Amino acid sequence: MDDPRPAPAPGPLTAPYWEAARSGELALQHCAGCGRIVHFPEPACPFCGGTELPYRAVSGEGIVHTHTEVHRTFLPGFATPYTLAWIDLPEGARVFGDVTGAVHIGQRVRVHFPVRAGFGPIPSWRPVP
Ligand SMILES: [Zn+2]
Repeated sequence: MDDPRPAPAPGPLTAPYWEAARSGELALQHCAGCGRIVHFPEPACPFCGGTELPYRAVSGEGIVHTHTEVHRTFLPGFATPYTLAWIDLPEGARVFGDVTGAVHIGQRVRVHFPVRAGFGPIPSWRPVP
């Protein structure tokens, strides 16, 4: 079944993120100046101002920091209910994402890449059994 949600619109800043997803990897910007992960993507590091921010793959493992189940959406195409979460990565970043399955705070999760028809793989998270 096609997902009726609107597809992402990659731009120059986010294209490497989506290219990595097509290879089955979660890749985030790493600042060459201070070494921190920058996410969401930025043209300059919010910590040191550096502008050299290459994308590198991360483990794809994480722990649910917090989550919510959305029952009422204001966006067209988003069928409810669905779950969103902030995920803490062992690399030291916190990412936001869609969750497949039930989770709780502290739950171990792993990224996976369901394919959106007409777009391609989109990172999502699911519990680690
Ligand atoms: Zn930096």
